[in-house]
Amino acid sequence: MAQGKIIVIVAPSGTGKSTLIKKLKADKPELLESVSYTTRSPREGEENGVHYNFVSEEEFLAMKDEDGFLEWAKVHGNYYGTGKKFVESQLESGAYLLFDLDVQGTDSFKSFFAEKANVIFIAPPSVEVLEQRLKGRGTETQDSLNLRLENAKKELQRKDDYDYCVVNDDLDRAYAELIRVVEGILK
Ligand code: ADP
Ligand code: 5GP
Repeated sequence: MAQGKIIVIVAPSGTGKSTLIKKLKADKPELLESVSYTTRSPREGEENGVHYNFVSEEEFLAMKDEDGFLEWAKVHGNYYGTGKKFVESQLESGAYLLFDLDVQGTDSFKSFFAEKANVIFIAPPSVEVLEQRLKGRGTETQDSLNLRLENAKKELQRKDDYDYCVVNDDLDRAYAELIRVVEGILK
């Protein structure tokens, strides 16, 4: 388990984390993203096995009972978890692994991997901008939007608790900063 590198990206929903990760993966193909398991429904354009492994609650809980997750959490009313087998085997073979986690999963990673987990928090310029982005994405119901905003306010209080914090104000500027941080971790 000691060989590879671990980068965790954490951000309140709607900050632009998926947008930044997509750019990062295109520029850094050596970064392998762990595909999480979730019980939430796929959004338009999301593919099973690519964006997530979409599973039923029964399947998720069975996997949890079989100790199949490195970490799992209930986020915005749905279960999300990181599969153990994939991560362990990839780390042994020296892979550079990228994780997209909420703060609970990030804290589990920090307890488990300590300084081996390099955590980058992505913050929105403000809660108002975050709300506009979430609304603009057009993927959430009013209830889900409200829940994500409530959670965002709590998650934002953690922005200085990790290794790096990048503010996603202007996308190109934020991306340039993010890639500099990632290159520093990988070198
Ligand atoms: P997350 O993965 O953090 O939930 P997304 O990547 O889906 O967020 O981004 C939320 C919305 O905000 C999307 O519609 C995206 O196109 C937009 N967005 C992302 N970054 C920026 C930015 N820097 N400026 C303006 N809009 C952005
Ligand atoms: P979304 O539903 O917007 O794709 O993701 C909601 C939240 O769940 C995001 O903060 C995302 O980072 C987080 N998430 C995605 N996969 C996992 C996972 O495997 N474990 C944990 N703890 N959080 C995850």
